[in-house]
Amino acid sequence: MSTNKQSPITGRVVALAEVKQRRRLENLIYTRRRVAQLAAEHRSHRLDDAVELYVLQLEVETVLADEFPDAFDTHFADWADEEAAAEHHPEATSPTCSICEAIAKNRGGDHSPHAA
Ligand SMILES: [Zn+2]
Repeated sequence: MSTNKQSPITGRVVALAEVKQRRRLENLIYTRRRVAQLAAEHRSHRLDDAVELYVLQLEVETVLADEFPDAFDTHFADWADEEAAAEHHPEATSPTCSICEAIAKNRGGDHSPHAA
């Protein structure tokens, strides 16, 4: 029998709070990754809203740093590499860029990247 004096209900509330926190962290990391990818793609294509997307990315990163400083420190080092990988020269195409993919589809269903 357990010697834990915490009631089953209190234990469940604590567990639920931990699950909510973990979900929030996962959502923030996912949102940051998607926004950073979009910002890099829009920069690569010199689109006007690239700056707005970058500002949004910084806002999400600020929330992450405030609420989950340890996770922020853990992930921060990888972000620069991910962003560099997501960008491409404006006259080139990238197989991982959703805008390049949309352009290729619009040109007739060819999904392969076209070298500039
Ligand atoms: Zn592209």
